Amino acid sequence: VRIETICTGDELLTGLTVDTNSQFFQTRLLEVCGATVRRSTTVGDRREDIIEALVEAAARCDAVLVSGGLGPTADDLTAECAAVAAGVALVEHPAVLAHLRERFARRGVTLAENSRRQALVPAGAEVELNLEGSAPLIIQPQGRCTFFFVPGVPREYRHLVERHVVPRLATLLGHSTVRVLRVLKTTGTSESQLDALLAPLSSAHPRLTFGYRTHPPKNHLKLLAEGETREAALAALALAEQAVRQVVGQAIFGADDDTLASVTLQALRARRQRLALAESCTGGLIAAQLTEVAGASDVLWGGAVTYVEAAKTKWAQVPTALLSAFGAVSRACAEAMATGIRAEAGVDWGLSVTGFAGPTGGTAADPVGTVYLGVAGPGGTQVERLHLHGDRERVRRFAAHAALDLLRRTVEGAAP
Ligand code: ATP
Ligand code: MG
Repeated sequence: VRIETICTGDELLTGLTVDTNSQFFQTRLLEVCGATVRRSTTVGDRREDIIEALVEAAARCDAVLVSGGLGPTADDLTAECAAVAAGVALVEHPAVLAHLRERFARRGVTLAENSRRQALVPAGAEVELNLEGSAPLIIQPQGRCTFFFVPGVPREYRHLVERHVVPRLATLLGHSTVRVLRVLKTTGTSESQLDALLAPLSSAHPRLTFGYRTHPPKNHLKLLAEGETREAALAALALAEQAVRQVVGQAIFGADDDTLASVTLQALRARRQRLALAESCTGGLIAAQLTEVAGASDVLWGGAVTYVEAAKTKWAQVPTALLSAFGAVSRACAEAMATGIRAEAGVDWGLSVTGFAGPTGGTAADPVGTVYLGVAGPGGTQVERLHLHGDRERVRRFAAHAALDLLRRTVEGAAP
């Protein structure tokens, strides 16, 4: 079975957009079907080039995934070219038209004439409606080849490819095995430690392939399971995940789309607890990560960037005597910042960071890269000292990550 991709759009040929769509498809095709693409073509928004690419691909392929050019504007030529290449007319598809009307009505606007173009598909084509946008997935046979036309907008592309294209290709490939993937996200354990922990599991889980991917300071663990049916693959995956969680433990902070911020918020939300931050060297990075998650306000009270000593005193209740005795980068200061911001906000948890991000500063005892993290909660206060390597950006990023992770572990470890 020969599969190819065609991407359309001038922006892909002028350096304005990088083709991330093909990367997504190729990854999923390999993971789910164990298959690879034989050729990938990119063409600009020119009728004759698109038609030529379609005709040529139809002659040598069993399946072709075509991305882009299904929008409402004049440079969106794909549906029209597909009809020409197949020698059929363009016809209005009633279900697509109804879907467009409904989408527009929900926004309180009437369907514009150019948008109505998106309901035009080559005669004889099948469609799958796009739940993330307007243009549908068009499935069109041309001789022995099946074309899949997908909008170029990455969110819509991924939705339709994942939901419809990959499963159909799996069928076309006559796949007796189905593959399912789960990514477990870990932190605080190195890739080689993970490998050593998981090595003994592989013989007990023959349907599983374990893979690693490092995203410092996180390590992702990929579990790819296969089975004769989706149910069998999911069952094998569930067993393996359970075994992996048992040996890796709390280093696993989440799975798939989780982020450290989203799981930390969720852990607090489940306990109906709230959080306040006092950040010095991270300058608000933790607050930024938490507020990236929609709906964080039921957990995050707020955060103070207490950068100079006076700010630590004014906003996080750090006594001036403590600062002169121990300095701002100290175990005592981190502890005082966490308890101080917790009291100031009147919430369940206070999280603090103070350290030397560099490149200058630091002392003999606490050189550049020294960071103190404080967590104050219902069960008391704890401080952790880190020594981080690398430049200022890396120290700040790792410090924010470590602070959130310390909080997560403490919250998860505390009684619910
Ligand atoms: P639209 O309704 O937005 O016009 P469309 O199906 O016509 O959708 P395009 O116009 O080709 O798609 O592209 C829409 C958007 O998706 C553009 O911002 C484009 O840069 C982006 N895009 C297109 N192809 C790709 C690709 N292969 N990889 C990543 N992004 C892409
Ligand atoms: Mg377009």
